[in-house]
Amino acid sequence: MKVTLYSAQPYDERFFEEARLEGFAEEAFDLIYQKVALSRQTTALAEGSDAVCVFVNDVLDEVVLEALAAMGVKAVVLRCAGFNNIDLAAAERLGFFVARVPAYSPEAVAEHALALAMTLNRHTHRAFNRVREGNFALDGLLGMTLHGKTVGIVGTGRIGLATASIFKGLGCRVLGSDPFPAEGFEAIGEIVDVDTLLAQSDIVSLHCPLLDATHHLINEASLERMKPGAMLINTSRGALIDTCAVIEALKSRQLGALAIDVYEQESGLFFQDRSSEIIDDDVFSRLMTFPNVLVTGHQGFFTVEALREIAQVTFNNLVCLTRGAPCSNALMQGDGASR
Ligand code: NAD
Repeated sequence: MKVTLYSAQPYDERFFEEARLEGFAEEAFDLIYQKVALSRQTTALAEGSDAVCVFVNDVLDEVVLEALAAMGVKAVVLRCAGFNNIDLAAAERLGFFVARVPAYSPEAVAEHALALAMTLNRHTHRAFNRVREGNFALDGLLGMTLHGKTVGIVGTGRIGLATASIFKGLGCRVLGSDPFPAEGFEAIGEIVDVDTLLAQSDIVSLHCPLLDATHHLINEASLERMKPGAMLINTSRGALIDTCAVIEALKSRQLGALAIDVYEQESGLFFQDRSSEIIDDDVFSRLMTFPNVLVTGHQGFFTVEALREIAQVTFNNLVCLTRGAPCSNALMQGDGASR
């Protein structure tokens, strides 16, 4: 089976080749690593492939899926949990097998959310630079003690639950909002409606998927409902936040701090070295001017354990496909039946 991996970074190749040697050497997989993202312009690179393997910023809209189907590609395997970048209705109509990696280390993302909160709160990124320049002044580095503060978790699934446990461990009061709260959340915190969560939380951390219903969940109106001066963390998907509204809330001081690992328009920016280029995105550039904004380039998942798991589960998904066996990670089994 020939599989074209789009958006393939050197670390993807390393962990896929390691997983192949450790458990899948017997399987006849021909893996083609393509650095570019899948888009209407790059579908032709999958010519002759049975499957494409994609990541968060690859585009699988109806046009791309139709082009892939016309070339004989039968499967899409996602190296991620979220699947907002694939038109599932079109994939179903075209009979694609679609599978994902539902949980490759919820703790990795939860720990990154904590790292963002800790860094932004205690300004360790600024202290690092200051001390290296011999500046030991503390002015501007004032933080708050997290013990006793209220942390709101929007989306209490795998990552939200892991994040809730971490903040509970710090001695925080934890609130959660979720139409389908995770089993076990009650042992950690209290489920409330989203408005109560926004009004009472000192830190709001987003862990729900990007859906039509959650697009711009954080907007001008919801920002006004937040506790003045609160911190907002987003490690989920960029478009949960209306970035322009957030910029206005930062300017008015209604929002106290922002930490994001994901950004609405990240597909044109993230996962590449753009340090010698001019960034054309004025909204992103404005974000970079705030001292109380911290951005990382979608690295929440980026741990050895998670990359290992992504590669192994993706191979397992492909093995299910080649053997015609039911795949528990399939969103679609390839006969048009969604699960
Ligand atoms: P999950 O499916 O286990 O949990 C998502 C939860 O969100 C569910 O409990 C669901 O009921 C809830 N939800 C749905 N709509 C909601 C709403 N309107 N309000 C509140 N909650 C709502 O998913 P997960 O594994 O915890 O992942 C969460 C998200 O994290 C993914 O969708 C993905 O976008 C993102 N993610 C980011 C990274 C990263 O590297 N930054 C890595 C993995 C996943």
